Amino acid sequence: MNPKSKQLQALTSDQSNDVFRKRIASQIKCLFLTSLIWFVGASHFVKAETNYPAATTSKAVVKSISVDELKSHVEFLASDSLEGREAGSQGGQAAGTYIRGLLQKYGIKPGLADEGYFQEFQGGFRNIIGIIPGNDPELKKEYVVIGAHYDHVGYGKPSNSRGGVGQIHNGADDNASGTAALLEVIQALSQHKGVPGRSLMFVFWDAEEMGLLGSKHWMDHPSIPLDQVSIYLNLDMVGRLNEKPLNLFGSRSSKGLRSFAVKSNHRETGVKIRFNNAVRPDSDHWPFYKRGIPFLMLHTGKHADYHRPEDDANKIDYAGIQKCAQLLAQLVLDFSLQKEKPKYRNADRDILDGIDQQAKVDSPDPPRLGVAWNAEKYKQGNLLVTQVLSNTPADKAGLKVGDEIVKVDGRSPLTTPGFAALIRSAPSKVTMQVKRKQEEKLLEIPVELKGQPVRLGIEWKTDDSEPTVTVISNIIKASSADLAGLQMNDRIYEIDGKTFGTSDEFRKLATTMPLPFTVLVEREGLLKEITIQSTR
Ligand SMILES: [Zn+2]
Repeated sequence: MNPKSKQLQALTSDQSNDVFRKRIASQIKCLFLTSLIWFVGASHFVKAETNYPAATTSKAVVKSISVDELKSHVEFLASDSLEGREAGSQGGQAAGTYIRGLLQKYGIKPGLADEGYFQEFQGGFRNIIGIIPGNDPELKKEYVVIGAHYDHVGYGKPSNSRGGVGQIHNGADDNASGTAALLEVIQALSQHKGVPGRSLMFVFWDAEEMGLLGSKHWMDHPSIPLDQVSIYLNLDMVGRLNEKPLNLFGSRSSKGLRSFAVKSNHRETGVKIRFNNAVRPDSDHWPFYKRGIPFLMLHTGKHADYHRPEDDANKIDYAGIQKCAQLLAQLVLDFSLQKEKPKYRNADRDILDGIDQQAKVDSPDPPRLGVAWNAEKYKQGNLLVTQVLSNTPADKAGLKVGDEIVKVDGRSPLTTPGFAALIRSAPSKVTMQVKRKQEEKLLEIPVELKGQPVRLGIEWKTDDSEPTVTVISNIIKASSADLAGLQMNDRIYEIDGKTFGTSDEFRKLATTMPLPFTVLVEREGLLKEITIQSTR
């Protein structure tokens, strides 16, 4: 231990951070700093069965993720002094030392027992591993693994640069952003070590840019038994959210993973999510997936600066990283407490495998009445028939062009839910009151409508990967579902708080539950309640 380090122990944490960075930066030019600074974190593992924390604690965890800290990590990791953090380079090594120093500061257990935090491989590359042991007597034997690669491409090569070879590729988004998010999640969780049921293993991968070398090496030399890994959560490029939905990959690598993630998102963060079903070997989730371990990957999208010198810290959306880190922290806690270990599901080919074509409550059969009306006049309060389709119920009942429909079974066709919906959901036999030119009195015209009344007005698909959810595939115009604001591809989770496990169970609920009822719907990763009123 060198002298300077003694002084360090006396300083406040922020001061030590600054000194730390300056020290790293100053020694980059000459030698690689190997000093070991050990902070004994004031953490005590509590017995899970008594102190399992409630939502209040996960709230506190999520809230302690700060934009300032994220910014300071990214600015350091993407600074020119680290020269683009190419694996094995001085800049790459310095980034590794920086990360290890923070794991020590947060009191995180070294991931390699007596070997400390570094898993060295291929002569100079280093994965960095830390652990927060779980608290549940059973679950703690399993691990939620969370990772992010900390290397980038240095000065760039024709093989890995999109332009500007020879200039520092700072890699602020790729992947200083993911590294910073993971550091903040670790710091937040380190203040709540009594929370996790399963153990948590954090990994900062090296040499990802050289072909996933770090995660592949770990997969061949795992520091924990692979069958104890319950799920892998990956962060790669989370620095450019910018009001866009967050891309979440991997949701089909285990049944129910999407709805699980949505519920985690619902509780705290509420970030818009685009579930991307592609499974590609483009980041460190791949070796896990290939070994039959389910995964989720957070990614805010490629951009023009990808793998170029312009991927700089001043282009990062730090509030966006914060949201991603908060969602990740919530996911980590929830996966660590989930009773069942997620089971692997092969998601290679499927977009929407296992579709149930027969699924519909109502179907848009031919028109029930068969008239067209003047939309402008309708707005002004008159329903004037402008067309009567031949051989339709309207034609058979004797309705004529120019007729004004005043009432349908005693109800105005102008008031909510409106004429179309009224006809859609009306019983087969109705009586219309019609005002006809040259007729003094209102005419009472019985009409036998075609087909069945539409109750809800949706068709749906089921999703093999999400058995407890139905996906809306069609909405009948002016039906109660349409008027309630349901949309195509909305995913229904519950009806009046009741869940279902099959398409038939859903159909039963949807056709028997008295209207109005409320459906819990997922749209872009967010849950919302929509109340469906009867149009009768
Ligand atoms: Zn990357």
